[in-house]
Amino acid sequence: MEHFDVVIIGGGPAGLKCAELLGGTDLKIALIEKSKIIGPKICAGGVTVNIDIPELLSQKVTYFTRQHVILDGEEHIINLDNPLTVIDRAVLGKFQLELLEDYQNVKVITGIRVVQIVNDDEDLSISEPGGKKEKYIITSEGEKISFKFLVGADGSRSLTRKFLGLESKFHIGAHYKIPAVFDKVVWFLNPENLGTGYCWIFPHPGFTSCGVYYDPELISFSDSKRVLDDMLDDFGLDYSGARFRGFPVNCLYKGLKFDDVYLCGDAAGVAFPVTGEGISTALECGAYVAREILQEREAFGGIKSMLRHRRKQSRYLWVLKRIGNHHIQSLIFKLFIYAIRRSLVDKGKNGTKIH
Ligand SMILES: Cc1cc2nc3c(=O)[nH]c(=O)nc-3n(C[C@H](O)[C@H](O)[C@H](O)COP(=O)(O)OP(=O)(O)OC[C@H]3O[C@@H](n4cnc5c(N)ncnc54)[C@H](O)[C@@H]3O)c2cc1C
Repeated sequence: MEHFDVVIIGGGPAGLKCAELLGGTDLKIALIEKSKIIGPKICAGGVTVNIDIPELLSQKVTYFTRQHVILDGEEHIINLDNPLTVIDRAVLGKFQLELLEDYQNVKVITGIRVVQIVNDDEDLSISEPGGKKEKYIITSEGEKISFKFLVGADGSRSLTRKFLGLESKFHIGAHYKIPAVFDKVVWFLNPENLGTGYCWIFPHPGFTSCGVYYDPELISFSDSKRVLDDMLDDFGLDYSGARFRGFPVNCLYKGLKFDDVYLCGDAAGVAFPVTGEGISTALECGAYVAREILQEREAFGGIKSMLRHRRKQSRYLWVLKRIGNHHIQSLIFKLFIYAIRRSLVDKGKNGTKIH
């Protein structure tokens, strides 16, 4: 059985960020990703918080200051201080992977899934010569890999989270990736038909992501798709040849550290619950977990501010959901739009760094 100091399950932004910060240390790291190609993911790629993007990546990133918010059919233009950053996930994944190439101590294993985690069970654990028990994962190839620390960066349907016995709360994101390039960012709110959710149009160079994010306790998949389709018809966007693909976003945060097992990103439920935005939080978490493993006690400001920001969002969403009445929900959204325009609300200036 091969041994690693740290086994990271998942090669999304969280796992890759964690591996990057553990790169060049004395620790032996394995990052295991079930997909053959790292990067592509069902995701709109929009980031509303302040992120520090290196020059190489910024050539592939689009910034939008002007936002079109449509609430119950009425259009509001918002000019943000911090522009919305739109990143193609394939580009981000490739970029993050390339950063790991410099590190001899990081082994990236792709096309292999972790199917089981075994930890401290009398019958199943393996004793080291000193009598100390080891913990290990089993891969889809039947290989056993032992670890000292396990990092579950394995997304919303996390095996690691299940292994820890933690429940999840899923919101759903689903989108069409259409070849047409649209020229404006659109946020579409309609509490009567979407509850607390929203539809979006995020233009990228070469394609546009048009999608819907919603709470499945309030709206069904088919209803959310109908609202999105109607919106796209109104904008004259042709989505007929595009696949409508969805994935859950886990929004229930229960902690990041569980003895020698850590959770990062969607596995930890840290996505912002109002928008479903989880790229920046995944990066922040990945960095935090790496520093925690390295016992670097400084620079935890980023994670604290991110958790504070998402806690506020959770409370806001809880209130909005309990209100139930869509007229009052619309009024709250209207007040929120007013507050953003007047710069009365925190625009989420987290200092997340991609590099
Ligand atoms: C439709 C949609 C639109 C979205 N739009 C946005 C957006 O605009 N902005 C934003 O910030 N966020 C968005 N999100 C959310 C965002 O995609 C996630 O929050 C983000 O990807 C979380 O990163 P992660 O690294 O935690 O997990 P992931 O990116 O999900 O990565 C987890 C990785 O683990 C791998 N994995 C899982 N299980 C195993 C296993 N057993 N063995 C090996 N590997 C495994 C997976 O293949 C995957 O590559 C959207 C989500 C959806 C569904």
